[in-house]
Amino acid sequence: MPTPRSTTTPATGGEVFALIRSGQATTRTEIGNLTGLSRTAVAARVATLQASGLVVEREEGISTGGRPPAKLTFDVRAGVVLSAAVGRSRTQLAICDLAGDVIVTENVEQEIGASPAELMPVIAQRLIALREYLGENAKRTVGIGVSLPGTVDTQRGCSLNSPMMSGWDGVPLHPFLAEVTDAPILVDNDANVMVLAERRGDRRDFADMLLIKASTGLGAGLVSGGVLQRGALGAAGEIGHTKIAAAQGMTCRCGDIGCVEAVAGGWALVRNLQEQGREITHIRDLITLALAGDAEARRMIRESGRRIGEVLSAAVNLLNPEVVIVGGDMAQAYDTLVAGIRETLYGKAISIATQQLQILPWTHGELSGLVGSATMALDNVLSVRAVDQRLAQQK
Ligand SMILES: [Zn+2]
Repeated sequence: MPTPRSTTTPATGGEVFALIRSGQATTRTEIGNLTGLSRTAVAARVATLQASGLVVEREEGISTGGRPPAKLTFDVRAGVVLSAAVGRSRTQLAICDLAGDVIVTENVEQEIGASPAELMPVIAQRLIALREYLGENAKRTVGIGVSLPGTVDTQRGCSLNSPMMSGWDGVPLHPFLAEVTDAPILVDNDANVMVLAERRGDRRDFADMLLIKASTGLGAGLVSGGVLQRGALGAAGEIGHTKIAAAQGMTCRCGDIGCVEAVAGGWALVRNLQEQGREITHIRDLITLALAGDAEARRMIRESGRRIGEVLSAAVNLLNPEVVIVGGDMAQAYDTLVAGIRETLYGKAISIATQQLQILPWTHGELSGLVGSATMALDNVLSVRAVDQRLAQQK
């Protein structure tokens, strides 16, 4: 149950919008009860929000006799947010509504090693084309969310340390997207936005959540106390480069020795199966084999799960999350992977930390990076402060 505000300053239009957006308030009476605003003040805030297009009012409430109360809702079609999930060999693009749900999506296949100067103009052009394709249905662009593998400098909007994306470190991405929109452009790490994508709908209330992305590489996104944790330099969640005994003496693609990725990352599994003479090129091929019942592919994924569970046990002891979300390409073989994770996670973590711990699959599957990038941008452009600024400008 939402609690009434305790501050003495009257609630702003942005705060009223936040109540409507979250569904905490759906009528003028509820807004009044939650904020303590007078009927006149509520009417003024609602009128401004309606003029902005963010809120619509419909007469569809349940009546106890007489005229039914008008229902206020956030108009998720009042604008669009653009989304780009940049990967090493593939970039996904989407246009999403203001709830962060994908309206239209497109994949861009790219050369491995493509530089920002080569790839970003293509992304800009395709986003513009997608928006044109939607025509009237793509109203005002409110922002762009971009996700990248590796550590990201969110202030400058660039990759900070991504050994897999050569030439991207230190190159701000905003200038490449300036022709698409003058709205805010937000950039973050892929696992970070994926955990944001999970904090929606019936998972909204999870305040302590850890997402493991098991794909070509291994990474984690972390929400603690309800807040996304990036760490001092944005390197929080770089769990793939934790040293474990099973990887002793093995060289990782980061250049270090003994990282869990070197035995459990998708790239290592692919290489190991190739060494057995099997013709596969991507972790998705290995997953396909496992799902078709290939014993060796299944064994590899389960073993990878054991090693992931090992490093997760330390994270679970440290952070005591309510839920571990398993995502990434390897999550398609969820049962096999998670069987391995459970073995070592529950064996190695302290019992109090695992007593009520849930392990769940990601919600949005392949669209996770897109939904997460959109969510990141929306949390920024629809924040109380941003909405207040917008309302002030429209007066
Ligand atoms: Zn490494």
